[in-house]
Amino acid sequence: MTPPQGRPELPKTYDPTTVEGPTYRRWLEAGVFGADPASGRPRFSMALPPPNVTGSLHIGHALDHTYQDYLARLHRMRGYEVLWLPGMDHAGIATQNVVERELAKEGRTRFDLGREAFVERVWAWKAESGGRILGQMQRLGDSVDWSRERFTMDEGLSRAVREVFVSLYEQELLYRGRRIINWCPRCLTALSDIEVEHEEVPGELAHLRYPLADGSGSIGVATSRAETMLGDTAVAVHPDDPRYQGLVGATVRLPLVDRLIPVVADAAVDREFGTGAVKVTPAHDPNDHEIAERHGLPAVNILTEEAIVNAEGGRFEGLDRYAARREVKAALAELGLLERVTEAPHSVGHCYRCRTEVEPRLSLQWFVATKPLAEQAMAAVRSGQTRFEPVRYEKTFFGWMEQIRDWCVSRQLWWGHRIPAWYCPDGHVTVARQDPTACATCGAGELAQDEDVLDTWFSSGLWPLSTLGWPDQTEDLAAFYPTSVLVTGYDIIFFWVARMLMFGCHFQPPTPFEVVAIHGMVRDAQGKKMSKSFGNVIDPIELMDRYGTDALRFALIRGANPGGDVPLAEEWVEGARNFANKLWNLGRFVIGVLEGEAEAAAPPEDPPTLADRWLLSRLEQTRAAVTAAYEGFDPAEAARLLHGFAWSELADWAVELAKPRLATGGEDAERAGATLAYALDVTLRLLHPVMPFVTEEQARALTGVETLTLGPWPAERPGDVDPRAEAAMADLQEVIVALRRFRAEHRVPPSSRPRLLVVPAGDDQAELFRAEADSIRRLGRLEAVEVAAAAPAFPTAKLLAGGAELYLPLERLLDLDEERARLDRELATLGAERARAEAKLANRDFLEKAPPPVVARARERLAEVDQALAKVRAQQTELSGAR
Ligand SMILES: [Zn+2]
Ligand SMILES: [Zn+2]
Repeated sequence: MTPPQGRPELPKTYDPTTVEGPTYRRWLEAGVFGADPASGRPRFSMALPPPNVTGSLHIGHALDHTYQDYLARLHRMRGYEVLWLPGMDHAGIATQNVVERELAKEGRTRFDLGREAFVERVWAWKAESGGRILGQMQRLGDSVDWSRERFTMDEGLSRAVREVFVSLYEQELLYRGRRIINWCPRCLTALSDIEVEHEEVPGELAHLRYPLADGSGSIGVATSRAETMLGDTAVAVHPDDPRYQGLVGATVRLPLVDRLIPVVADAAVDREFGTGAVKVTPAHDPNDHEIAERHGLPAVNILTEEAIVNAEGGRFEGLDRYAARREVKAALAELGLLERVTEAPHSVGHCYRCRTEVEPRLSLQWFVATKPLAEQAMAAVRSGQTRFEPVRYEKTFFGWMEQIRDWCVSRQLWWGHRIPAWYCPDGHVTVARQDPTACATCGAGELAQDEDVLDTWFSSGLWPLSTLGWPDQTEDLAAFYPTSVLVTGYDIIFFWVARMLMFGCHFQPPTPFEVVAIHGMVRDAQGKKMSKSFGNVIDPIELMDRYGTDALRFALIRGANPGGDVPLAEEWVEGARNFANKLWNLGRFVIGVLEGEAEAAAPPEDPPTLADRWLLSRLEQTRAAVTAAYEGFDPAEAARLLHGFAWSELADWAVELAKPRLATGGEDAERAGATLAYALDVTLRLLHPVMPFVTEEQARALTGVETLTLGPWPAERPGDVDPRAEAAMADLQEVIVALRRFRAEHRVPPSSRPRLLVVPAGDDQAELFRAEADSIRRLGRLEAVEVAAAAPAFPTAKLLAGGAELYLPLERLLDLDEERARLDRELATLGAERARAEAKLANRDFLEKAPPPVVARARERLAEVDQALAKVRAQQTELSGAR
């Protein structure tokens, strides 16, 4: 780092806007986020899930990035060589859609431009408006190594994609085949199974009747998509179904299109479904396609790419699928071949991009044979080479991997990695690492490259490998692979994590990452999903503008219980901002006390005062628990512990206990100041992974340190743990809290300074109260504290705290008669309310007619009144010994 420009002055109030930008720039200039593969330190590496190039920072990113940043910062402070590698995804469909929309405004389509010009236009868009999110990541404080930023379409990554495609082809794990794929008739592209969102819809089942060709009868079938009957090429029955024994091999005359089709026997037919006979539409249903392959049946495709009936549909040509469904049913009904239509809710797939109903479509696509790859990925998880945090997500992962189907990787788009396959006029396929000049089979020089591009997830599936230079065995790959942790939301375990595991385990064993740390989704305070239509979306940029980055980060991490969803409300970010301010004020106080002298390297040895021993003990306990929680992927617990310690124990109790000692100006004042400074320094370091800006600014002002980013992490000091000091302080705190409560409840004027007689629970406590009499006197606003052997004879109030009895003489403390009268009045009011509430709840009319929430509220109110009554009676008891 550049030499310190002196310690910054801390202004009166914390203004994040003047601190965050300059701090981040200082980190960049100092290069503290850069990773050195040759440093010889232990390694900690993560690949940032690459945001879409079209993306901008939303609240989900804010959580995901803050989570990763805490891990990166924690390990950097603990002496690891940390690589957190950033980058972006080219996001095939999403990006192509953005640029197509732009073109549409100019009244043009991508076809007007042609492929080459269109792709150029996308690159130009990317250079200009893509990657806005990168600037927003800096705003969030992401400690990524910008010198290693990658893009899924850059040269190196494209080479990795090509190498994997060709290798898989050579290993016969990738093939071109005619299969039923999920087709979006609006995006005009294939979709993989996981890009399809299934939804229950109210649907129907049309029961059709197909006449036998010989006129001897008919056979009944049922379908939810009646229009597909135009493409039927068989009727199938189960070979053991007694109802159809004589019909197998018979011929059916398919109505409306008048095609003769056979009745076949296939064991895949479910005898329990409908009549036990099913129509077979090989071009429009994956199961039917398999039956057709087994029986050598033809496939008749009746729909265009836009899901409009084509010439195969005869007189229905030109109708879209929904209109065709109505018309086909009507036409069959006219022929008396529509028996009935029943309601049948069923699950329908929708395009994850545009919500259009997906159409199963027979088409020629490229597939990855995933089963062998999935086996390798599952083996890595079973053997523990990769583990999930929390472990319950392994079940989800296995569940999906066990029923994985071949992955359709070709997409009918222009933006993406073009498939490295060439076809000669004879239809031979040449797949090659270098663009070929001749057909590998027949030597023909006339070659045409496949028009399609690869699924976006093909390249992002290689992310942990390709970003480190693979297929070359680079220094980075040797140093930082396998990566240590992959952080992601549970929603893309399938989309992404599984793919990275399959590719990583296969191409660069043993595994792409050692731990998969799963977090949940950010939801609103009621746990509802954030969505534009609910109007409950929270914009992280606005929150950072309003409350500062640290506040947003802290609020997110505080809610991030392992693997669970993260509720967030603006008030909680505001609360976190108040916490940052509390820390700031604490820092200013401590720095003021020290007059710029602190080094904070270590606390004074063997502190003689209880306050210091207690503070150091609590600090060490907090340090140990916070470190364990961070390490155990439970940053929410770390945040909770730090908030409690820093706010209540350090900023409130420790400071108050230190104030009179500091005022003495002697050796003990120095000790008190040094202990506070040390505790603050440790606290700032512990908080730094979550609140990097406010902690760094304060630490620089406190000790003159250049940065917290490089640590060190606070060292273990087990000798500081002092259970006796903690127990003694707990007694002391109880006494002071009891005194403050008494004053507040009985409205003792602030100017009153009563004497306290305390009868301790034992000799130890007697000694404690004598030694700490001055603290009790000051914090309890007392005139004097006397340790007594027994209750005094004069009128007092009596309080119980920490096992001790506290007696406050009432003389001059409060007007006893008035206070008693006040309590009597309160008791009367509450008593009347109780009677009313009870009468209401005894009224059967009310109980039967009032809405349940109103009845519940009445019950709650009664319980509240009872509590208030108990409190007033306790207060009366406190005063009962008074006369
Ligand atoms: Zn679509
Ligand atoms: Zn050829």
